[in-house]
Amino acid sequence: MEHARPARAPLGDGARRGERQARVNTGGRRLTMKSGINIVVCVKQVPDTATVRKLRAEDSTIDREDPNSSGVLNELDEYAIEEGLRLKEAHGGEVTILTMGPAKAAETIRKALAMGTDKAVHLMDPALHGSDAVQTSYAMAQTLKKIGFDLVILGSESTDARTGLLAAMLAERLGVPQLSLANKVVVDGSAISIHRVTDYGYDRVESSLPAVVSVVEKTNEPRYPRLKEIMAAKKKPVTTFGIADVEIDPGRIGLAGAYTEVAEFAVAPPRAAGVVVKDEGDGGVKVADFLTSKKFI
Ligand SMILES: Cc1cc2nc3c(=O)[nH]c(=O)nc-3n(C[C@H](O)[C@H](O)[C@H](O)COP(=O)(O)OP(=O)(O)OC[C@H]3O[C@@H](n4cnc5c(N)ncnc54)[C@H](O)[C@@H]3O)c2cc1C
Repeated sequence: MEHARPARAPLGDGARRGERQARVNTGGRRLTMKSGINIVVCVKQVPDTATVRKLRAEDSTIDREDPNSSGVLNELDEYAIEEGLRLKEAHGGEVTILTMGPAKAAETIRKALAMGTDKAVHLMDPALHGSDAVQTSYAMAQTLKKIGFDLVILGSESTDARTGLLAAMLAERLGVPQLSLANKVVVDGSAISIHRVTDYGYDRVESSLPAVVSVVEKTNEPRYPRLKEIMAAKKKPVTTFGIADVEIDPGRIGLAGAYTEVAEFAVAPPRAAGVVVKDEGDGGVKVADFLTSKKFI
């Protein structure tokens, strides 16, 4: 018996080689703002890869409070913030930063506010410690349901855990479409479309708000804050929520209930000093001998 399959979106006239089109139905949910778009950008504080990162001996989680390791704004989230600001400048509305993290994450929130966003929500609670990606998506979805949104923008991955799962899991929990790996985002009324990066070029994916979008590197040129904006950011409102404020079930978060655990870890051996080849006219031979000895050639 032949299975009736939903008609694939026919390739539109504008379709060029390497481009495919898709339309995702959203069941016509209403937008939260009369005019403009209510944009929430998820921003993660990650350990600065230039500093020594330590795992806590007692539970093998990253020691985010270690005074020697500083936290920085996840690189891809700078593109997510910039995309949110450009959509606000084009359509009006508001850009809110959402960060789940310990007290130290407040530095990263201030940096995101200095880039020009309007306000921030800091989900902070000791019970969240050690939450894995599944649990983090639950906690952040509860917060997004509380604060409302038309468009949630994330980076496609973090530089510490790199699961790249948050956007998809958030969309699933919020019951809205996900448009992922975007390097171009266009909003027209309640319609949204992206260019989704692929090996063969890109797909053009279309849907309608509310939706979740993840952006990739070089989607745009983030504008870095000037002193005036950095000073102004200090006065911008930051709302701090504990898990009770957003009806998070304590049994569904934290290390005890995490689906993943660090079985063991070892400190990376210090990088061995390289071999210095002094070129006395025979540098090429010496390099060739070295590569041969390492069976590279
Ligand atoms: C070294 C390390 C390894 C880990 N390994 C795993 C693992 O294998 N499996 C697992 O389930 N968890 C793991 N975790 C925990 C995981 O990092 C957190 O749960 C995290 O918040 C979500 O996963 P992610 O960073 O991989 O998200 P990704 O999906 O890679 O992040 C994509 C985007 O989601 C947003 N985002 C992610 N986290 C936050 C946040 N806390 N606040 C605001 N926005 C956020 C940002 O926009 C980011 O660009 C690990 C953590 C560390 C530090």
